[in-house]
Amino acid sequence: MAIEIIIAKCTGCSLCVKACPFTAIAIVDKKAVIDLDKCNLCAACVPVCKPKAILLRKPEPVSRPTDIKDYKGIWVFIEQKKGKVQSVSYELLGKAQELAKKLQCQVSGVLIGNDVDSQLDDLISQGADNIYLVQAPQLTDFQDEPYTNILVKLIQKYKPEILLCGATAIGRSLISRVAVIIKAGLTADCTGLDIDPKEKILLQTRPAFGGNIMATIISPNYRPQMATVRHKVMQPLSPDKQRKGEIIKESFESSLYASRTKLLDIVEEIEALVNLAEADIIVSGGRGMGGPENFKILKELAHVLGAAVGASRAAVDSGWMPYSHQVGQTGRTVAPKIYIACGISGQIQHLVGMQSSRIIVAINKDPDAPIFKVATYGIVADLFGVIPALTQKFREVFRK
Ligand SMILES: Cc1cc2nc3c(=O)[nH]c(=O)nc-3n(C[C@H](O)[C@H](O)[C@H](O)COP(=O)(O)OP(=O)(O)OC[C@H]3O[C@@H](n4cnc5c(N)ncnc54)[C@H](O)[C@@H]3O)c2cc1C
Repeated sequence: MAIEIIIAKCTGCSLCVKACPFTAIAIVDKKAVIDLDKCNLCAACVPVCKPKAILLRKPEPVSRPTDIKDYKGIWVFIEQKKGKVQSVSYELLGKAQELAKKLQCQVSGVLIGNDVDSQLDDLISQGADNIYLVQAPQLTDFQDEPYTNILVKLIQKYKPEILLCGATAIGRSLISRVAVIIKAGLTADCTGLDIDPKEKILLQTRPAFGGNIMATIISPNYRPQMATVRHKVMQPLSPDKQRKGEIIKESFESSLYASRTKLLDIVEEIEALVNLAEADIIVSGGRGMGGPENFKILKELAHVLGAAVGASRAAVDSGWMPYSHQVGQTGRTVAPKIYIACGISGQIQHLVGMQSSRIIVAINKDPDAPIFKVATYGIVADLFGVIPALTQKFREVFRK
């Protein structure tokens, strides 16, 4: 799309300046000037321009492929690191099975690597009806080019209807390349996936506009419909060793496995603090904690419970806790067995990072705080009374 001002028609009335939500238009020498770095082509200025001096050229609609009905089944890209399947893949298989019931189709895993056969049974027991397996020494570690080439070839050959991938460093890098090559839509960082009961298409829900709304995005015209989902947002299935699945081995000419980049080393991120994403219990504090010194009572409760300490962005932005503890849209996504939210109001950006927790306990003095809508147990009280009392009680119980 392109936008331009027809200078001869512009009267400099400034109605477009007022209409622009991005402050991208200014009047210079009595004529409107658009700052293209700020303009996002939303077209809000076009209808208000009485002399019709703003020209917005829309691209020709891309013709809809005729063969979308040929695309069948749900695929999950199985992410492996050093040969070990990452837990996000099991979570996605669980979700894929739920979606597949609504579409009455199969769930397939796509596993690319080397010497990864030992985990095929686990993948089948946790939701894969079949697995496309591509193995070669060159594919031991993830590399953008060969993994993209292979996934594209498989998609072109087998035509899946939906492709899910972890919103991890590897997943984000891989799937965006695949989407560009096969010209399909991609919704990143979904927090919810469902099937439209009438149209039978994928409903991809994710925070939008800075997290202020939850948007449900569809890709009705192209296949596969592709989405990434963060670790811990979906729940894996319990293993069922009775499940049977088919392994479909594929190999390609070696030129497809070539990469212009050379992998020198993989450096593990060193986490100095408790790994929030893996913790069974998280005790989280928000602005209601009132100051950094008060996190002491939260840490005491966490210590007694063997829990990790989380924080809302308000607490992190105030400098009370380091960013590595932040839970939410711009922090960690967590799904512990128990999440205890203390002095956290429960804004949507926080909820998207913790609402998959099995049990949510909210302590807040405001009975109308939105956190109570997702809480399993709500305590309407002053946290400075409740937290030390809980710590003492748990201490007594655990001592017994
Ligand atoms: C793009 C974007 C991304 C964001 N990402 C994140 C994110 O990743 N994580 C995140 O958390 N936020 C995020 N936010 C911010 C989010 O919108 C909220 O502002 C934030 O979560 C609020 O934090 P809070 O609940 O601690 O503070 P508040 O909303 O101020 O709530 C404090 C709560 O404490 C309660 N309280 C106060 N004193 C006590 C007491 N003595 N006892 C009991 N209760 C008490 C109050 O009743 C209140 O409900 C993001 C916002 C944007 C726009």
